[in-house]
Amino acid sequence: MIKIWKECPLRDLNSFHVEEHADCIIEFDQKEDLDTIFAEANEPSKWFVLGGGNNILFTQRFDGTLIKPVGKAITIKAQIDDSVIVEAEAGVEWDDLVEWSVSNNLWGMENLSLIPGSVGAAPVQNIGAYGAEAKDVIERVHCFNVSERRHRTLGNAECHFAYRDSIFKQALKGKVIITSVEFRLSKSPQPNLTYGDLSKEVEARGGTSLRNIRDAVCAIRRSKLPDTAVLGNAGSFFKNPIVNKSIGEELKAQYDNMPIYPLSESKCKLAAGWLIDKAGLKGFRKGRVGVHDKQALVLVNLGGATGGEVIDLAHEVQLVVKEKFGIEIEPEVNIL
Ligand SMILES: Cc1cc2nc3c(=O)[nH]c(=O)nc-3n(C[C@H](O)[C@H](O)[C@H](O)COP(=O)(O)OP(=O)(O)OC[C@H]3O[C@@H](n4cnc5c(N)ncnc54)[C@H](O)[C@@H]3O)c2cc1C
Repeated sequence: MIKIWKECPLRDLNSFHVEEHADCIIEFDQKEDLDTIFAEANEPSKWFVLGGGNNILFTQRFDGTLIKPVGKAITIKAQIDDSVIVEAEAGVEWDDLVEWSVSNNLWGMENLSLIPGSVGAAPVQNIGAYGAEAKDVIERVHCFNVSERRHRTLGNAECHFAYRDSIFKQALKGKVIITSVEFRLSKSPQPNLTYGDLSKEVEARGGTSLRNIRDAVCAIRRSKLPDTAVLGNAGSFFKNPIVNKSIGEELKAQYDNMPIYPLSESKCKLAAGWLIDKAGLKGFRKGRVGVHDKQALVLVNLGGATGGEVIDLAHEVQLVVKEKFGIEIEPEVNIL
């Protein structure tokens, strides 16, 4: 079913809770609805897909149509040996799907517990946390290509997944609407406890089980990240910078406790949160916005801020980090 809303307030549709408006929002729950919405006669001239709004910063009115998938079906498509193929529609809450997988004893998503947002957005930036990424479990992505007016399916390799990146942020950016995602989950245990304190937290809960891993991830996340209902934010505002190994090693020689993650022969990843913290900005406030006092990677709306105020703070953070370390940090958040 298609629902159309005009002159829409966006405050409750973005996790920063900035007060902007959109000309129009169209909700749909069947992929065939998109053939109608984008039929030649009524095609919106300017459109953007809105999931849960957890990775978007509105800096002005959106003078176009926000397309919002709201289909919430989860279906088992196939069982092949140890694997189960599960299809979830784009409007399913990501964490509801993780809870569903844990309740059904299916392994693969538990480390991605409590990441806010929709299933449809998960492949876009290849969401990741606690040593896991969505790409590890995505089998294929079903989408509607607007300019071709055609439904398409992309296999995992065709999605060009990388760190917080995919074809949906590159060649297909602004061209497709993801309608559902298929995941390959495992019936047999595949615990991934390599990241940080996860293993300790799981042990403290009585040992390695799917439920204990999910509970441990949720507890760690709740202790570190501000609740968006209380303090508007979009999680990590910046991506962890990927730099040449020689630059990483030079900095490591200067700052012994700096986290550094080798990626390849020539590249390594640095922790943007550590750089911001070390630059003295953790807890820094500027009017109605600030850098979170527990997690420097998170910029927060202290109440009533505009998207522009968040952007000004982000620029200041980028500048200070660049001056201190010579490293450029880029936003992970989509700025509109
Ligand atoms: C407190 C907090 C913690 C977070 N922690 C993490 C984390 O640990 N790891 C992580 O990776 N991210 C994290 N994020 C970011 C966020 O959860 C993810 O980016 C999530 O996938 C956003 O989902 P959404 O539905 O809200 O997408 P939106 O914010 O609505 O959209 C994000 C982007 O995806 C596009 N998009 C959304 N749905 C579709 C669709 N169906 N088809 C095509 N394009 C689409 C949008 O156009 C936009 O470009 C966090 C955010 C918050 C607020």
